[in-house]
Amino acid sequence: MAKRDYYEVLGVTKNASEADIKRAYRRMAMKYHPDKNPDDKQAEEKFKECAEAYEVLSDPEKRKRYDQFGHEGLRGIGMRDYAHMNWQDIGSIFEDIFTGIGGFGDLFGMGGRRSRRTGPARGYDLETSVDLTLNDVAKGTNKTIEFTRQDLCPECTGSGSAKGTKPGKCPSCGGSGQVARRGGFFQMVSTCPQCKGGGQIITNPCKKCKGTGRVPKKRVVDIKIPPGVHEGQGVRVANEGEPGQSGGPRGDLYCYVRIKPHEFLQRDGNNLIATVPISFTQAALGTTIDVPSLDGARGLKIPPGTQYGSVFRIKGQGLPDIRTGRTGDELVQIAIETPKKLNAKQQELLREFAKTENKTVSPQSTRFFEKLKKYFGNNQ
Ligand SMILES: [Zn+2]
Ligand SMILES: [Zn+2]
Repeated sequence: MAKRDYYEVLGVTKNASEADIKRAYRRMAMKYHPDKNPDDKQAEEKFKECAEAYEVLSDPEKRKRYDQFGHEGLRGIGMRDYAHMNWQDIGSIFEDIFTGIGGFGDLFGMGGRRSRRTGPARGYDLETSVDLTLNDVAKGTNKTIEFTRQDLCPECTGSGSAKGTKPGKCPSCGGSGQVARRGGFFQMVSTCPQCKGGGQIITNPCKKCKGTGRVPKKRVVDIKIPPGVHEGQGVRVANEGEPGQSGGPRGDLYCYVRIKPHEFLQRDGNNLIATVPISFTQAALGTTIDVPSLDGARGLKIPPGTQYGSVFRIKGQGLPDIRTGRTGDELVQIAIETPKKLNAKQQELLREFAKTENKTVSPQSTRFFEKLKKYFGNNQ
């Protein structure tokens, strides 16, 4: 799930102005809009990727964090979860930048397709991430995560209007939510750009939220992580996303799993792999060694004559399968180390041993090279 650089996604430079970024996003979103690319999954993904890039680069705070720390800097600040959103929702989040330019909304009928401005609609999903150890994966765990999300303004309870005031009729459309435009013989009706179809506008904006009805709020949530989760998997926490529109239900929070590397163990599906070095004498004569496992070191019998790369399987010492709960195995792979330095006594013993093998060893190896020279000499 490697994320691309947001500037690259929108095709702008690092010092692009706010207007540049807006223009670039508008261009990209038009290009990849699913209405223009029916049944094209790739275009849809690009469309979502652009929306995510725009969310970050159009927000001075998020952009600053991204410039400083990259994708890492955006963790835990309540990014919207575009991967799980349908594109109609994405279109409506950034509807503002498309309306009033005679473009998007009208072209693709965004306003007409949905009625979120007038009726209750579900809130947006959010995403965050959690770091786990392999031990967390083995047993499952509870994690407390903290993030910031846009919640209903407590001052105006989300209405956006100052206390004691009510929204007024939209002057552009007279409250109908639609405006008519003449185009030759035709009269085209489209969503009113001022009230965005709601028919009402806030005349006395709430001071706390400046009329948006939302304020950023820190939120602490306990998440139960089941055993056997995989890198990149999202754990859904229902009703912890953004609040809905006009009394609609909250969106969900998706918590993506990241697994920290283990000092000795590597994951392969539900199995764990450990590579353990032993000496050549241990390999030849056999021994019992300590091997790392999730519960600590455990003894493993190495039979005489063990070869380089031999694999020993410890049943049931892997990770549980997330669905069946069946536990994988630990695979211990043997690496044999040849000593780099031998003392005089060791050399003597090994030479003695070599004699019994009838193998040529240094310094007699010069004989091998002489033979080799002769061989190539004769063949030239
Ligand atoms: Zn407010
Ligand atoms: Zn209006």
